[in-house]
Amino acid sequence: MTQLNVVEIKKKPNPILFDAMPISGPLVDRFGRVHSDLRLSVTDRCNLRCIYCMPEEGLECLPRENILRFEEIATLAQACFDLGIDTVRLTGGEPLVRKGIENLIKLLDEIGFKDIALTTNGILLPKVANLLKEAGLKRINLSLDSLIEERFSSIRRRGELKLVLNAIETSLQVGFNPVKVNCVVMSGVNDDEILDILEFGRKKGVIIRFIEFMPVDASGLFKPALQLSAEGILNRISERYDFVKVGDAKDAEPAERFRFLDVDLEFGVIGSMSRSFCSTCNRLRLTADGAFRNCLFATDEVTVREMLRNGASQKDLEMMIRRTVWGKRRDHGSDDGNVERPNRSMSMVGG
Ligand code: SAM
Ligand code: SF4
Ligand code: SF4
Repeated sequence: MTQLNVVEIKKKPNPILFDAMPISGPLVDRFGRVHSDLRLSVTDRCNLRCIYCMPEEGLECLPRENILRFEEIATLAQACFDLGIDTVRLTGGEPLVRKGIENLIKLLDEIGFKDIALTTNGILLPKVANLLKEAGLKRINLSLDSLIEERFSSIRRRGELKLVLNAIETSLQVGFNPVKVNCVVMSGVNDDEILDILEFGRKKGVIIRFIEFMPVDASGLFKPALQLSAEGILNRISERYDFVKVGDAKDAEPAERFRFLDVDLEFGVIGSMSRSFCSTCNRLRLTADGAFRNCLFATDEVTVREMLRNGASQKDLEMMIRRTVWGKRRDHGSDDGNVERPNRSMSMVGG
């Protein structure tokens, strides 16, 4: 396992040779990774301002006319589906601030995706949970970084802890399965709550996933000292619980999975930086304004909005998708192990 350096990269990466790109068969990249998962960011807007993601003030929103309509998203999703992408996740920004999101879920369900999932901060969930389920949403991930009210407020800056707790209850009642709860761990900020949050998960029967803080925040708060590595997180957990590893991070599941020995429940650790899972990455991303990206950390992307609005042919969409996958770099948007901050922050790309 390598610890990655976050650097400013000045030299241009080596050119990618497209002559060798297959024009039929699975969506494979130059490293043999077959792609089967699509993350759709449906908005860059959010009703919270988490310190690890967005600045408190001043982040400009994308112009409304640039935001893809649901039908445009579905056209790209259909083209991806036809090439073997079979799981899809809606994210953002906060996906539930996008009005009528259940209509997009219906369109995706009609396409035939075998799994449709959503990542949300939960604030608006209780009102729409049933609608989302009926539309075809299968799984849900919620974010919870603290069980202490004042700390919740200082990390998330808006919203209230009780609303998120309520959203977790609602998700269980409505029958999303499994319900996963994401916690971004920051040293000296909330790392002293790892065991409490895990205990909360055990009591509720939800899968807690601890995420390493990544340098994808819009305000530039990230610094290595704020990051507790996956190993550090696991060491803390082993102070109280016995567990075994049951799965590596792979495909659409970026977490290393562990099972408690005394309870029939898993938890996960997402070591995006210290235990990179790029070698099995199968993900593609579409931003709210129609940028098609092959990596969360990519510093380039393909703008497909105009293609979608101008009625691009199936063949053109297919070639664009194949080229995007073929152009994917080995890890974290680079081929040499150095990580550059991506050209868009997390809330703009979609986590
Ligand atoms: N608004 C929704 C939410 O918060 O769940 C969905 C979008 S959010 C960008 C998706 C996930 O990214 C959340 O679980 C959030 O905790 C995580 N995230 C955001 N910024 C992060 C960062 N700098 N490092 C690691 N995870 C981050
Ligand atoms: Fe909003 Fe999610 Fe980013 Fe928090 S992590 S600011 S809830 S998009
Ligand atoms: Fe995939 Fe890029 Fe994330 Fe690596 S850094 S897992 S290649 S999206």
